[in-house]
Amino acid sequence: MPRGMYKSGRLRKIFVKTPGGKTTVQYRQRKPSAAVCSTCKKPLLGVPRELPAKMANMPKTLKRPERPYGGILCSPCTRKRVQQEARSQK
Ligand SMILES: [Zn+2]
Repeated sequence: MPRGMYKSGRLRKIFVKTPGGKTTVQYRQRKPSAAVCSTCKKPLLGVPRELPAKMANMPKTLKRPERPYGGILCSPCTRKRVQQEARSQK
C-alpha cells in the first residue's frame, strides 16, 4: 500500500521498467496546465508545458513564438489585433 502522500493524486504515477525486468511505480510532479490565448482561451502552440525549474533553464526563444504578442495571443487573434492597430492609427 502506498504512503498517504502518494494516494492523494497530487503526483502523477509513472510505471518504470527496471533493469531487472520488474515494473515499479514512480511518482512525479504533474505538469502545469497549457498556456492559453488571452482573448479566445485556446491553448497556445509553440509554448512548452514544462515544470517551472525546466522552464527557468530553457532559452527564451524556445518558450514562445518570436513575434509580437508571441506567448500571449494565438496567431488568428494576433492577426486581428495587428490589423485593428494599423486601422486605428489614422
Ligand atoms: Zn486567440
